[in-house]
Amino acid sequence: MELRARQEARLRALIRWAYDTVPYYRRVMHETRVLPDNIRGINDLPLLPVLRRRDVKVHLDALTSERAGKRDLLPTVTSGTSAEPLGFYRDRRTVPFEQATKWHSMEWAGVTPADSHLMLTMDRVLERTSQVTWWGRMVGGASIPLEVLYSREPDPVVEILDRVAPAVVLGYPSLLHLLAQAVLRSGRPLRTRPRCIFYQAEQMGEDTRGLIARAFGAPIFSRYGAAELSGLVGQTCDRGRWHLNTEGFVVEVVGGEPGDPHGMPASNGRLVITDLRNHAMPLIRYEIGDMGTAAGEEKCPCGRTLPLLGGLEGRIWEWVVTAVGLRIPAIILQRTMRLHIDLLWEYQFRQDRPEVLEVAVVPVGDYGEDRQEELARALQAVLGGGTAVRVTPVSHIPREASGKRPVMKSTLHQGR
Ligand SMILES: [Zn+2]
Repeated sequence: MELRARQEARLRALIRWAYDTVPYYRRVMHETRVLPDNIRGINDLPLLPVLRRRDVKVHLDALTSERAGKRDLLPTVTSGTSAEPLGFYRDRRTVPFEQATKWHSMEWAGVTPADSHLMLTMDRVLERTSQVTWWGRMVGGASIPLEVLYSREPDPVVEILDRVAPAVVLGYPSLLHLLAQAVLRSGRPLRTRPRCIFYQAEQMGEDTRGLIARAFGAPIFSRYGAAELSGLVGQTCDRGRWHLNTEGFVVEVVGGEPGDPHGMPASNGRLVITDLRNHAMPLIRYEIGDMGTAAGEEKCPCGRTLPLLGGLEGRIWEWVVTAVGLRIPAIILQRTMRLHIDLLWEYQFRQDRPEVLEVAVVPVGDYGEDRQEELARALQAVLGGGTAVRVTPVSHIPREASGKRPVMKSTLHQGR
């Protein structure tokens, strides 16, 4: 209860600040006739509309606090996968807080920033702001050249792992997937096993999880954050449950279609996040583009009292739309990909219309038509009738500029 009281005190202060100093919110609050005194706590937040990406794009200046000094504004761009990049301001005074959230997440996994790290990322934003990277270099961490991973040659990968002997391996699931494949293909055991694996920025399917477990035998932790936000919003504990950071954020799960400005509480739906730390450009009820499920009243068996999130289901555009209008998160289909996990380096789902789901696969060796059909049939069984599945072998899957490889490329879910 004390956590909630602290969180709501910060929320009231933010709303008041936004009304007093941010033209956009002043206008919205006048239009909706919701004044700062009407927002007494989290339950009152749905009185305010959802802030969409396009609102940020159009009203960038009006969303900036009149009292933010030039030095407070940290210009940032979302790394974006299939979404267009979005420019916005973070509050420079939150950088230490962001760092603290990252280091704190390590403590839950039983490691410290002083342990050796192996980073699998090319995210420039992360490079610039991440003290972990800087610190990692100081204490003997390293990042793996992505060309090495992409080359799909196992030996150089294992050599780097043996040389760095990382206690912690961090990266996007799609890169961890390649790393684990390389280790398994090399056929020799690692000299030192990492003590934990961290991932963020993409969902991890059960196929990847299984590979990592076989390759490293280390527990897997996840963190949830975004370039727009002042720190990590949540992290998983050793029981695999998501705990939310009440010191920095209010996370709501709301119903409605992507981009719907009305957002009422729902058991699953869009994640809408209020950043309690960014006073330079407040984000209140910001639709981040992820889907999730709310948690019930139950407590986590780990004993921590930070509130829970039921689950994260990935970016809105990482959902398959079937011919009969069902929406299925790509993460569900990834389960089926376990069937051929040892035959494929990696894969990507692609969809431009509900009648067809394309699956680009990078085979390890021979992957004939019978295999392709077997996979297509298994995926089809998940999707139901009306949507055909086409499996196409390719030599590689292109990366985004950030180094991410989204599990799903869809033009059907661009609602933001
Ligand atoms: Zn827990």
